[in-house]
Amino acid sequence: MATGDFMKIITIASGKGGVGKSMLASSLAMVLAESRKVITVDCDVDAPNLGLSLGLKDSDYDTWKEITTNEKAELIESRCNGCKKCVDVCNFNAIEWDDERDMPVFDRMFCEGCGACELVCPRDAIVLKKAMNAKIGTGKTRYGFGIVSGQLKMGESGSGKIVFVTKKTAEDIGRKEGAEIMLIDAAAGIGCPVIASITGSDYVVAVTEPTPSAFSDLERVLRVVEHFGIPYGLVINKHDINNAFTKRVEHFAKGAGIPIIGKIPYDKEFVKANVGMKPIVSYDRGKKKMFQKIASEVLAHSD
Ligand code: SF4
Ligand code: SF4
Repeated sequence: MATGDFMKIITIASGKGGVGKSMLASSLAMVLAESRKVITVDCDVDAPNLGLSLGLKDSDYDTWKEITTNEKAELIESRCNGCKKCVDVCNFNAIEWDDERDMPVFDRMFCEGCGACELVCPRDAIVLKKAMNAKIGTGKTRYGFGIVSGQLKMGESGSGKIVFVTKKTAEDIGRKEGAEIMLIDAAAGIGCPVIASITGSDYVVAVTEPTPSAFSDLERVLRVVEHFGIPYGLVINKHDINNAFTKRVEHFAKGAGIPIIGKIPYDKEFVKANVGMKPIVSYDRGKKKMFQKIASEVLAHSD
């Protein structure tokens, strides 16, 4: 196992957003928690909604902690000689020039904290200061297992590092509570937060829908998973909305030797469960078997 030897890490990923990642994560957590001690982690720090899928609003978490994983440039006006070197070096358009005052103006929203301006400034007029760019919530779901949620603040950057800290927080809590499974809801896409979510996982469940855009994004995220050599399986959500394309996904999976560990049909009940902030297995118990089957596939492939 990747985290010491106490906890199996299972990550739910998708190339495209909105294909049912949090839906799957919340229901898998519920069925896994029937036989294992589970802790859930929302690493979709740009758009976290695993908590909502499990019935938690922000005010329902036990604690929220502000964290900093980034820095922002600030100007010490009295030292600036107006040389404009900082403006020229910034690749993020985070520095504008104030003609009236003949000095730079730093835009916190665009500043990535790269430090280039600080390096080139001949007057030590720029300092990088820590930015409280995210918060991490910890709490318990009404279903008995814990949740850790990372949330990037509006207009801030540094998602990858926030995922890292969120996972570390969950790992510490999981270790204390004797969790056997850490279930991660990763960000969509193939960027930094996804890589940070997937790294160290024992198994990845990749979710897709039978649409060209979801399939194209799926292929991209699978390349990332393969790069890290992590075993994975595929779940096709709403498989019956486009049977021809589902066949195409299945053909691709067969050719690539990717196990399809679940196929979930379209049903309005999923929408109702989402609106009611409940995992589908709690809202519609008839769906439980389907998710239990996916959970046993996950355990079988990751043991
Ligand atoms: S730290 Fe980097 S991104 Fe921020 S203002 Fe300076 S050069 Fe631009
Ligand atoms: S590089 Fe330093 S001295 Fe030059 S304009 Fe920027 S802040 Fe002022």
